[in-house]
Amino acid sequence: MKAVAVFPAEREVRVIDHPEPKLVSATQAKMRVLDVGVCGTDREIVSFQYGTPPEGSDYLIIGHESLCEVVETGSKVSIVKAGDLVVITVRRPCPHPECVACREGRQDFCYTGDFTERGIKQSHGYMTEFVVEEEQYLNPVPRELRDVGVLVEPLTIAEKSLEQLWTVQSRLPWDRHRRAVVLGAGPVGILGAMALKVEGFEVSVYSRSPNRDEKNRLLGALGIPYIAAETHSTEDMAQMVGPIDVVYEATGASSVAFDVLKHLGPNAVFVFTGVPGRKGPIPVDTDEIMRNMVLNNQLVLGSVNAPPQAFESAIRHLGIFAQRWPDTLRSVITARFPIEHALDALKEQAGGVKNVVVVAS
Ligand SMILES: [Zn+2]
Ligand SMILES: [Zn+2]
Repeated sequence: MKAVAVFPAEREVRVIDHPEPKLVSATQAKMRVLDVGVCGTDREIVSFQYGTPPEGSDYLIIGHESLCEVVETGSKVSIVKAGDLVVITVRRPCPHPECVACREGRQDFCYTGDFTERGIKQSHGYMTEFVVEEEQYLNPVPRELRDVGVLVEPLTIAEKSLEQLWTVQSRLPWDRHRRAVVLGAGPVGILGAMALKVEGFEVSVYSRSPNRDEKNRLLGALGIPYIAAETHSTEDMAQMVGPIDVVYEATGASSVAFDVLKHLGPNAVFVFTGVPGRKGPIPVDTDEIMRNMVLNNQLVLGSVNAPPQAFESAIRHLGIFAQRWPDTLRSVITARFPIEHALDALKEQAGGVKNVVVVAS
């Protein structure tokens, strides 16, 4: 079967022929891959900055944002049946008995770093025709979400952040209107803004985007103001928004993030989800940040995705988005490419677009 694979030693990416997987246990299911989303992580992998093949393989099949259809199930599989749509989780537990996080099924909090990730770290991904997986890693998706189900995985970044946010917010024993700022208007930022809006936040998006008018229109349709970083400093943004309760960072740009950190409101939480590339150090006024953090009880939180609960809430939220904003939600997917042209989908593109590789329809 066809698969898109990166060969790190040869510094090559190509469409290869890979053996079709078979069920090897009664608790597994076999899936036909329908859609695979492409994100910055994939672009880093195909530019050889990231990504590790499985032990004994000289290549890694890429792709971690999936939407699949079940074609075959083992005799002990009960939550899915042939014909069901599923999204498969990405991270798999480390083998160490002492890692309580992995032993609890929370490998997103792995202590050892020896987890694997499908399509990223030592385990083949989903940009191929068929995959086999244990039932516990499958998340059923309703048929109505066929055209947007591939957005579940990127939405889990916001879902885990929200889960963490609600946990830390319980330190404040009252309920009040909350104001959130999303940094970045790429797919992760837009999906995060939608989730925060559905959860009752007053949301603004602050971003630098080459296709500013388009983002402005897209977010405007959601009732979310778009504040352009090219024309508004972080001070301007903070003035426009008012006291910020939550920042959801989805850019990986540390200079902007630390600049916004200075403008947090009292008792605010700042959630980092972007992973910056390795660049030189940047000057930051650490005294100012530390002073504000102490005097305002602020919290900075890093979050990496994602537990099964985050997939469940992403599927639920996506259903709400699809009802409330059907056209805007579909417009988050900017282009679809057949698997033969997957390499075009992986090309570096400005403006944070979401390309999807269509493996089967
Ligand atoms: Zn991704
Ligand atoms: Zn672990």
